[in-house]
Amino acid sequence: MNKVSCKQEIKQITIPTPFAVGDVHTYLIITDKITLVDAGVRTIEAWEIFQKELKKHGLKLLDIDQVFITHHHPDHVGLLDYLPANIPVYGHKRSHPWMTQDQRYFETHETFYKDLFEKMGVEKRFYALLASIDKPMRFSCHRGLTSFVKEGDQLEGLANWRIFETPGHASSHLVLFDEKSGTLIGGDLILEHISPNPLVEPPYVGETERKKSMIDYVASIEKMLTLPISRVLPGHGGIVENVQEILTERLEQQEKRAHKVQTFVKEKSATAYEICQHLFPKVFEKQLLLTLSETLGQIDYLLDQERIEVDTSSLPYRYKEKEGV
Ligand SMILES: [Zn+2]
Repeated sequence: MNKVSCKQEIKQITIPTPFAVGDVHTYLIITDKITLVDAGVRTIEAWEIFQKELKKHGLKLLDIDQVFITHHHPDHVGLLDYLPANIPVYGHKRSHPWMTQDQRYFETHETFYKDLFEKMGVEKRFYALLASIDKPMRFSCHRGLTSFVKEGDQLEGLANWRIFETPGHASSHLVLFDEKSGTLIGGDLILEHISPNPLVEPPYVGETERKKSMIDYVASIEKMLTLPISRVLPGHGGIVENVQEILTERLEQQEKRAHKVQTFVKEKSATAYEICQHLFPKVFEKQLLLTLSETLGQIDYLLDQERIEVDTSSLPYRYKEKEGV
């Protein structure tokens, strides 16, 4: 392939995943360098499709100069294991222990989630789930980043593109913004039909507190509202063009759900697990971890805004609307 300078092309490669979310998109930004943004899930099927699609675009594996990772989830990093060992891989430092599957880090996870279940008041019948929390990691990669990047950084060959930190869905989440065309490669931050779950994560290596994912997510959406984004190339689903509208809608949906939680604990205090059942009566049993994450997100958000208060004098913790709100 003859590499073109100055001109820029973006190709989307769609790869199947074994997860409920369905297909994942990766992108090739072709300038005088070829940058792969995200590397789909680690399955043979995904690998075969990726190679086939690459060929369709007239490219070979060895043409890829560098990889940029939007966040550490398995559907965005898994195929890295199949790429040549010397390709530079850029991402946020918080992705690194997940991508290398650092055993010292993962050993802390079960205790972290068990402690969380106790504080939230989750029924004992669900504790068996704790042993399989890291199961999706079997579709992830086993190699880390070669360099860490952060807000404002740029990558070689991507002169118009700037990196923004957008934590929320993952604490490691980054997006790439092309200031010239207004194109945002958005990972899982802005999706067409779903608002991404602000997943609870155990504290990062060396930290003692978990990140407040929902508060981070809201701040990330607000940050995106300040950029002149004309379209979002997402990690899943269709390209988003009514960007401002979707971003505003996401903030409104968030406030609506937070309000529902606040109203629920107006007269009588409740545990996080009871709030979770109230928010997701139909799906909480089937998707306990996702719905607990979302619930905890709402609780963090309301506590941060001093709209509710928490009683931590005994387990499980109980939440109640703050007096005078
Ligand atoms: Zn994803």
